[in-house]
Amino acid sequence: EKNDKDVKEEMHKKEDCKPAVFIPVDRLPEIQEARLRLPILAEEQVIMEAVREKECVVLCGETGSGKTTQVPQFLYEAGYASSGGIIGVTEPRRVAAISMSHRVATEMNLPSGVVSYQIRYEGNVTENTKIKFMTDGVLLKEIQKDFLLQKYSVVIIDEAHERSVYTDILIGLLSRIVPLRNKKGLPMKLIIMSATLRVEDFTENKRLFRTPPPVIKVEARQFAVTVHFNKRTPVDNYTGEAFRGILVFLTGQAEVHSVCRRLRKCSLNVQNIQFLIFLKCPYYSQSLSQSLPRINLDSYSALPVDEGDEDRQAGIDDNDNEGSDLELGDHPDKEKADPSIPLYVLPLYSLLAPEQQAKVFSPPPTGARLCVVATNVAETSLTIPGIKYVVDCGRVKKRFYDRVTGVSSFKVTWISQASANQRAGRAGRTEPGHCYRLYSSAVFGDFSLFSEAEITRRPVDDLVLQMKDLNIEKVVNFPFPTPPSSEVLISAEQLLISLGALEEPPRRGRLGEMERARLSCPITPLGRAMAAFPVAPRYAKMLALGRQQGCMPYIITIVAAMTVREIFEDYDRPAGSEEENTKMAGKKARCVQMRRLWAGQGQSVQLGDLMVLLGAVGACEFAGCTHQFCEENGLRYKAMLEIRRLRGQLTNAVNAVCSDAGVYVDNKMAPPTASQVLCLRQIVLAGLGDHIARRVQAEELLDPKWRNGYKTPLLDDPVFIHPSSALHKTLPEFVVYQEIMETTKMYMRGVCAVQAEWIPKLLPQYCHFSAPEESPAPWFCPLSGRVKCHQQSTFYRVSWKLPAIEM
Ligand code: ADP
Ligand code: MG
Repeated sequence: EKNDKDVKEEMHKKEDCKPAVFIPVDRLPEIQEARLRLPILAEEQVIMEAVREKECVVLCGETGSGKTTQVPQFLYEAGYASSGGIIGVTEPRRVAAISMSHRVATEMNLPSGVVSYQIRYEGNVTENTKIKFMTDGVLLKEIQKDFLLQKYSVVIIDEAHERSVYTDILIGLLSRIVPLRNKKGLPMKLIIMSATLRVEDFTENKRLFRTPPPVIKVEARQFAVTVHFNKRTPVDNYTGEAFRGILVFLTGQAEVHSVCRRLRKCSLNVQNIQFLIFLKCPYYSQSLSQSLPRINLDSYSALPVDEGDEDRQAGIDDNDNEGSDLELGDHPDKEKADPSIPLYVLPLYSLLAPEQQAKVFSPPPTGARLCVVATNVAETSLTIPGIKYVVDCGRVKKRFYDRVTGVSSFKVTWISQASANQRAGRAGRTEPGHCYRLYSSAVFGDFSLFSEAEITRRPVDDLVLQMKDLNIEKVVNFPFPTPPSSEVLISAEQLLISLGALEEPPRRGRLGEMERARLSCPITPLGRAMAAFPVAPRYAKMLALGRQQGCMPYIITIVAAMTVREIFEDYDRPAGSEEENTKMAGKKARCVQMRRLWAGQGQSVQLGDLMVLLGAVGACEFAGCTHQFCEENGLRYKAMLEIRRLRGQLTNAVNAVCSDAGVYVDNKMAPPTASQVLCLRQIVLAGLGDHIARRVQAEELLDPKWRNGYKTPLLDDPVFIHPSSALHKTLPEFVVYQEIMETTKMYMRGVCAVQAEWIPKLLPQYCHFSAPEESPAPWFCPLSGRVKCHQQSTFYRVSWKLPAIEM
């Protein structure tokens, strides 16, 4: 019955190492008890001594060992927040920043004004904040305002193993900031926390830390997790496999029989056995998880288990396909489904509404067994209490980005061994657990050891702009934990130069000199303004141009909607019953109809998918942005709320950059006029200029693959306007697009029609000017990948004003 204070004082007495200060925390006894069981508590002294002695400490401990919730508390108690400084903690995910701040506030019995969070759109930070959880992007923005981060006495970089781009950059920056602070007599500590032991990229990197920081390991897994591999060779149809996996789990194959017995035994003895099922990730797993509540594992677990009884397995499969049962405790065949516990199935993925996400933390209904079907969100950032079984499909859905062509695609790939072990580890938190891997040990052996850093997989133009704004001119020399290739850096600088955010490098000199100059272009005033907007440079450019003809509120809305993931509900997911299918088809039809309505008429149709976004947001806000409106019109409520917040934030940013802008958020915004639509299209063209495409010409049509296709400067193959696009029927000659997603074909997303004669005026850097008789209209030069224009289109790049609109 010792309270925390006693324990700690005793510990310090015994070890004769009293901390300089000790700020008592008044925790509830049950909280205290739970804390004392966390492995990290045993390491508190070692950690705090290292922190006191060194500028930077690396802390490794498996997920659930208590890093995120406890280390800030250790620091608080040791007085790191008692003399004015804040303890800052960065998380790569918003969900984690919010939920961890709540948890730590609860554990410490302190209000949210003291243990607070800040994410892109919102936060509850006050003057009294002592511990601040935030997304890594938020801290990066703060560095732009105060390079020395003087508010903070400690910065904890959490989940460093995820290697998110901002986390990597922060570590690079902090490796310089911390010594600077200490040199100036403003002591500061850096703690890097990782769930894996692979920290060499931080510790062994001489560019980062001259003397490697100490690495403290926390022995974490409380209970053993038995790993069961699939003995069959995996098939490509992995969802079928996962689906089947759950069935196999309880019906078929030899290794699964033993599970079944164990499970049945458990289900008699233990009330709350819980599953955590990892399926693919992170974007569209809804479809799969939503089809899962239809399975009732227990009706199978109660069946007599006969090894190799294939017929029965088939029968069971059929039974499930009919979607029998599904209410809790309501079994289709009570005789067969004997002493079983109904499954309480909850999906968990990042696009899920927050209140749905929070459900996994509450205990399931009495007598039911929780089964969480999750994406990577549950891999490291969130720890669901009491999981005993994990079913791991071994795959992850990742966004891939072709650095040459800029084409994005989501691909399902194998996870790394580190991820697989993370997932397995989730089963052993409260008692010994089991992990069922839906792949063989041979396949596991072929997995890469660790996931690669995000920075090597995505464009870096936003980062380069942020760094230039921090006056880091030679971005190549930046101490990246894993540096992006110089080719990626060059193309980022090139884009920023074309957008006018960086000064143009001299065109004279020897080749090597020119190359070098190209990699150290200073930022322009326009670039500074763009860096102040929390969106990618192309969108920032649009905002910077938005002050024409009253277009700013529209541009803010379009940019907000373009940067929020998926504003429309996905009605193409596989539904279940006939009835559900009909309902879904009805909703889809309604959604298609609404999109047509939002696309408007006359001029506005030319703004294409961006007009649809504008119309959707306008209509939704006009109706008060209610859950009901979104539900009825096929909009994702969470996305609409995010757009609302982002509009507010961008409006503030515009007013801050340009004090006389005087923009405000108008929820009863009238649709843009015809001349505003023209202006908006030009602004969009100026921002998305390198994403231009031209409908194919007659000669290319000889090859049928080019039918209805578009040519882009960099791709050899045609790209297409998606059937769901507002411009699908119109097929304008020139369009710009938000991005190309490769699914069945290469489709442009976010398409807007532009006019040929604007191109030389707005995008001279992409044009080759030729004699008038050569070509009457702009055209693509296949060799240079550039747009050719005739000479009459002269252009003087004196200001960023748009050309006059011809009515
Ligand atoms: P780590 O950062 O090392 O992964 P955490 O500090 O996140 O570990 O978690 C430590 C413990 O706190 C875990 O047992 C976890 O289940 C518990 N925990 C975290 N958040 C909550 C919550 N919202 N409700 C209940 N328990 C929680
Ligand atoms: Mg953590």
